[in-house]
Amino acid sequence: MSKIWVGTNWKMTKTIAEGISYTKELKQIANELTSTIELFIIPSHTALVDIKKEVSDSRIKLGAQNMHWEDTGAYTGEISPKMLDEIGLDLVELGHSERRQYYNETDAEINKKVRAALKYGMKPLVCIGENIDQKNNEISQEVLAAQLKVCLKGLSGDQVKQVLVAYEPVWAIGENGIPADAEYVGEIHTFLRRTLIEMYPNIGHEIPLLYGGSVNLDNFLPYIDQKDVNGLFVGRTAWNMETFTILLKELEKHISE
Ligand code: PEP
Repeated sequence: MSKIWVGTNWKMTKTIAEGISYTKELKQIANELTSTIELFIIPSHTALVDIKKEVSDSRIKLGAQNMHWEDTGAYTGEISPKMLDEIGLDLVELGHSERRQYYNETDAEINKKVRAALKYGMKPLVCIGENIDQKNNEISQEVLAAQLKVCLKGLSGDQVKQVLVAYEPVWAIGENGIPADAEYVGEIHTFLRRTLIEMYPNIGHEIPLLYGGSVNLDNFLPYIDQKDVNGLFVGRTAWNMETFTILLKELEKHISE
């Protein structure tokens, strides 16, 4: 698997104007990249239409942070896959730990969203991760296998080929996150790869496995060097264009060495 996926979820941090100016800058950096980095950004829903115009003449892929699984209906405050399809997105992030934690999203609901995304040709970026109690109780692998199996339940091999998986340990995410050891990340990714191959013997090896959780300029290279890490899902370090530029340029240099 030669492509390296690198992207960022802006969460609830950028206005439309801020998002447009960020994207204009990122486009310039993206133009200078020659490698096989697959770059994506995931703005807030309100900015998607404008940012779509910005990225349409670039290599930057565009995604949404969440959606409902139904096409239409009485679901106040929700956005449907049909609505996202009107904008024309490449991917949709599903099951981020903040969605699970603050909005009680379950793996079964994420599975419905995954199917809905596929119906509209959007790549589901499925986030999974164990919390600190689960890690301390040494059940991380069981928890992650269960999340993966339920989130991908019922998908055909052709469908699962479109899926991206992001491993994001809950204890490593955000301001209070503790960056994970690269070796731990490597072990978990190898476990996830094995699980995917058990589930899909013919294509399990092709599904990109991204790592996310306090990725920064000091740790991104050790993470990407892990055998089964196929990309980075970056929060705070990518929201700042200065640090994101350094990360992208150093990563490109590293992978072309
Ligand atoms: C995230 O919340 O998904 C994330 C990766 O954030 P950060 O890099 O800021 O920990």
